[in-house]
Order: sequence, then C-alpha cells, then structure tokens
Amino acid sequence: SGTQPGAPLCAANISIDKTPMPKEKLQPTKLVFGHTFTDHMVQIPWNDTDGWLPPMILPYQNLSLDPATCVFHYAFECFEGMKAYKDSNGKIRLFRPDKNMDRMSKTAARICLPTFDHDELIKIIGELVKLDSDWIPSERGYSLYLRPTLIGTQASLGVGPPKSALLYVIMSPVGPYYPTGFKAVRLEATDYAIRAWPKGVGDRKLGANYAPGILPQRMAASRGFQQNLWLFGDEGYVTEVGTMNAFFVFQLPNGKFELVTAPLDGTILEGVTRDSILALARERFDEDKWIISERKFTIQEVADHARAGTLVEAFGSGTAAVVSPIKEISWRDKPIYVPLQPGKETGRVAEQMAQWIAEIQYGEVEHPWSVLL
Ligand code: PMP
Repeated sequence: SGTQPGAPLCAANISIDKTPMPKEKLQPTKLVFGHTFTDHMVQIPWNDTDGWLPPMILPYQNLSLDPATCVFHYAFECFEGMKAYKDSNGKIRLFRPDKNMDRMSKTAARICLPTFDHDELIKIIGELVKLDSDWIPSERGYSLYLRPTLIGTQASLGVGPPKSALLYVIMSPVGPYYPTGFKAVRLEATDYAIRAWPKGVGDRKLGANYAPGILPQRMAASRGFQQNLWLFGDEGYVTEVGTMNAFFVFQLPNGKFELVTAPLDGTILEGVTRDSILALARERFDEDKWIISERKFTIQEVADHARAGTLVEAFGSGTAAVVSPIKEISWRDKPIYVPLQPGKETGRVAEQMAQWIAEIQYGEVEHPWSVLL
C-alpha cells in the first residue's frame, strides 16, 4: 500500500542476537507437528509514525503484551505456513515463498495491519533459516515449517486500525506427514456450519477463520470422520476439506478425465499447493485426455459420479501434507466411497502430484519454484 506511512521493511538493517544456550534437538523421528521450535525467531516492530523498525533475530522467547492489546480482543492476527527443505547437497530451499508473502500482505491489508516488501521479508526469513539450519533434518520427508505471524499490538480497547504491530517468525522442524505411506481419510460433508461465505474473509489467512472450524471438526471426529468437507449454500457446493483445498477427478461421458477444484471466488483460500497442482496438471497431463477445471461443483455431482462409477479420485492439498487422499465422504448419513489404487491408500493423481512436488521441493529437479537460500 503506497499510502502506508514511515520506513519500508528493510532486510539490510537486520540485527542478530544469538542465543547463549542452544536447545537440545529431538531425534527427528520423535517430532510432533508444531511442538518443537528452533533456537531463534525474527521480530520486526511496526508503528504508524516510524513504519517498519529494523528487523531483529533474537533467541526464541516469550512475548510480553499488555492484556488490553488489540490482538487478544479483536483478532488482529494473520499468519502464513510455508516450509524450508534441505537438499541432498545440504543446500536450503524455500518453496514458492513469493506466494506466501503475497497472501500474507493481502490478508494483512484486509484487517488494517501493515503491508511490506515481499522480497525483503523473504531475505529476513532466509537469514533466520540459515542461522538455524542445523534444525532442518536432512532425511527425505523432513522439513522446517515456517510460521510468519503478524499481530496488532496497540494496547487499547477502542475498535480501530492498530497504530502498532509486530511481525514475527518462528520455525518448527517437522517430520513426514505419512511416515509409513499414504493414509486416506474419511470425511463428513458439513452443511450445518459454514467455513466461508461470499464477500467474507475465508480467502484470507486470518487466525479468526480457524477457531470456529474446530467444533465441527470435533463433532465429525466423534462420528469417526477425520475432517469436514465444507459445503456452501443450498446447492451444496464443495469448497474445502479441513484446512486444505479439495480436488476431485471425474470421468466424463466423452471418456476424458476432469481434475476439478473450486474457483477462487472469495470463499476459497488461495492454496500454494492448489496453485502448484493446477499448474503441473496443465503443463504435464495429456491434453487429449484431461480437462483441468476451476469451477463450482456440488456434493450431489460427486454422489452422482460415485453412483455411475465415474468418481475416480479425491484428495485435499496443503503445505503440511502436500496431498491427503480421501477414501470416503459421509453425506446425509450415507457413504460416498472414493476409489483408491489396488493395494494403496491413494489415487494416481495425488500420488503423482506428491512425487512431482517433492522432487521440486528437495531440489531433485531444478525448478523456479524452489528458491535456494
Ligand atoms: N485452505 C485453508 C483453509 C488453509 O488453511 C490452507 C493452509 N494454508 C490451505 C487451504 C492450503 O494452502 P497451502 O497449499 O498454501 O498450504
């Protein structure tokens, strides 16, 4: 935003305060997602007179905030989820960080938090990742999950645009999502609760979008389903699955196959994995056999394909798992079964995409999406 006052974010002004007490690292196989954090973090304060203050790399530490701070009351918070990978030469790579920065800026702007120069924040994150690079396990499937976070820090109960903010970045080493191979999930198609709606903020990565999804998830879990398939409207449009984008494969009457996901109409989070899958499919799938669609589709259409034997595959997509195969969807208490490959817990497209994307993330094939630090 050109109207933002004060200094722009500047990576060159960074200061580094190294911890005198590095933590002991867990054995990689013992890692639980999001429980372990590295030795350092980034903190970058902002205020509406000075703009962005110099970025700091500090020992990982608690924040101290006044109880009146606006983040606690009015949810002035947004975040990102992205990963750094160590390749077989020990080099460190980020996957499409420009996409995460773009999404974070758009989200920040939506709640009147400050925006920033994307390349500068990538450089700052790069410094943090390099400093804590010993924390990235080198085994295939492991990575470092990065959590850039931006909060309003003004200590005042007045509801208005925060006059101060803090951008921070923490990092967590993570293991493979499927340590023993794919595990397909069972979903509950959910229409009694709505994740996102037209002209709402479901297309933005606001913390406030996530807490309301937990109760429906718990209710689905109590009935034996791992995740919600979020529907929208009387039509029952399929939107997303849990906190992932949703992909389906249908066989069409003309014999072609359609890979379909919901369009970015404002109710769908612009997943980086979603975009990558669409791009790879458009580039690498046989054009004579495949139609790649971003269009609205309903749970009834999925059920009709299942009944006709033309539902081929379904999966979720997101940074954590890359793909998450789906084997069953419960809709109005009746199961829709989704085929898997014989002897496998995944369909072919999900398996192919997981392989293509991992090859790029781990630098096994050179690709502009993989950014060397
Ligand atoms: N939808 C929602 C609601 C999400 O939170 C996420 C995770 N960021 C995604 C989809 C997948 O996005 P990405 O591929 O960028 O991780």
